[in-house]
Amino acid sequence: MLTAGGTLALLLLLPPLLLPSPPSAPTASAPTAAPGPSAGPPGDTPAPDPLGPAALQDALDRWDGPARTVRGTHALVVGPPGRRAALEAYAVLADAAAEDVARLLALPAPPPLIVYAPTDNAALARLAGGEPGAHAHAAAVTVTRDPTGGTPRVLLGPTAFDALTDDGRRFVLTHEAVHAALALRDGGGPPAGMPRWLDEGVADWVAVVATGLTERELAAPLAERLARQGPPERLPADAAFDSASADADLAYAEARLACAMVVRDHGPAALPALRTATAEALRAGQDGAAALDTAMRAVLDTDPATFTERWQHYLTSELLPR
Ligand SMILES: [Zn+2]
Repeated sequence: MLTAGGTLALLLLLPPLLLPSPPSAPTASAPTAAPGPSAGPPGDTPAPDPLGPAALQDALDRWDGPARTVRGTHALVVGPPGRRAALEAYAVLADAAAEDVARLLALPAPPPLIVYAPTDNAALARLAGGEPGAHAHAAAVTVTRDPTGGTPRVLLGPTAFDALTDDGRRFVLTHEAVHAALALRDGGGPPAGMPRWLDEGVADWVAVVATGLTERELAAPLAERLARQGPPERLPADAAFDSASADADLAYAEARLACAMVVRDHGPAALPALRTATAEALRAGQDGAAALDTAMRAVLDTDPATFTERWQHYLTSELLPR
């Protein structure tokens, strides 16, 4: 969704399973993060550290007021000074998310992750470059394309993120880490025309595998609708992922299962390859539908119509008991 500031913010709508019941305080049993701006470029390599002093300064410049930073192995977390334990817990989660993203999407290295933990919705909106209250109920938002520059960054919802279950926090951060990692590879944000089901599906699929949750647990609402109405006619349209969409949770599940099917039928390398091929076709000037067609033929040896048919069968076989 394109907000007023030109910031592409990707919101995550959560499966009901991951939504809060009792509030739980963040518990970092053994934080591996070292507080403070201690890390510079590793060794003697001249390559700039994406989380080095310049990135730290940029991250701090964007934060309003006193800040504490926690540096993980792959993550830099910025938040208020009084929340050290929570920020350390976020760094542990973000490090794990970066490693899961690299492993599951065959990236050469875990992506650097910048994570902000704003204290209120006004700060969240300011960091997102959107209007006040724009993301008031989001568990997390990823800023991928920002006219003021900076590394893609994950913003945690001031209350919604902490209110999630442990699995929920891991799920959300992993999902958003995929968006941030892909945005880095795209040089800012997804190329215009990228089908949202593909990006949301990839992000959700990685999060599901990383957390070990099952579709029987997560996709119960989709299973119910399948039982009532049969499979959807087509892959979810971009608008289906808007937070205002009543059926957004179904769209996420449909997209995630499309990606799971790609992995089942074509192997784990096929999913990142499909996403890369789609981005390349878009950058070569094709529109979204043509780019998807090109990428599916090249990577999956199929076309969107056949893919959709297979996906309809897959949804039914995965979610409805025989
Ligand atoms: Zn997303």
